Amino acid sequence: MARYIGPVCRQCRREGMKLYLKGERCHSEKCAIEKRNFVPGQHGKDRRAKIVGYGLQLREKQKVRRVYGVLEAQFRGAYDKAAKTKGITGDNLMSSLERRLDSVIYRMGFGTSRAQSRQIVGHGHIDVNGRKCNIPSAQVKQGDVISVRESSKNNPTILAARDATAHAPAPNWIDVDREGLKGRVTSLPQRSDLVQIQLNEQLIVELYSK
Ligand code: SF4
Repeated sequence: MARYIGPVCRQCRREGMKLYLKGERCHSEKCAIEKRNFVPGQHGKDRRAKIVGYGLQLREKQKVRRVYGVLEAQFRGAYDKAAKTKGITGDNLMSSLERRLDSVIYRMGFGTSRAQSRQIVGHGHIDVNGRKCNIPSAQVKQGDVISVRESSKNNPTILAARDATAHAPAPNWIDVDREGLKGRVTSLPQRSDLVQIQLNEQLIVELYSK
């Protein structure tokens, strides 16, 4: 279960925008983008040149990868699968990323960030249809019931995350029971239901189609 373990805020600074990778801190004045929005590194302040063509496509791909916390090989695998699936490749890709179990836990408000949700899943606190699932990349399907395991219902991290995300609207495609710490996938996510960050997945399709 490889993952990025470097400085998190650096990724936002590299993309020049908030990617909301750190939960509540992202909404506070401590956010690195609020304090120093320039490219990391010694000459970072001089480096924000206009990006076009390949550079633009690459940055868009990196942005999406970072939002979902997926490394290159896994992202490429998700793209290849999306390209083979019927429909618009970009939409399929975004839908499959959104249906990752760690992302679903985040969207239900039981983790303050996708990284924390990934840890919650990896530590075995989650059931899918009544059976333990500790694979953050597992894809949920329509009709699946995702719940915090009975033995983890008093887990302070999960309860604190639920309280901290009380203001966040639940996604249209999941029927969330916040008190019961569970939710049911009522439909597959549409492009309009996805991440709050402005992304152009078409640029990723152009990049990988070369
Ligand atoms: Fe760090 Fe969150 Fe701000 Fe990104 S949005 S720079 S992860 S605090």
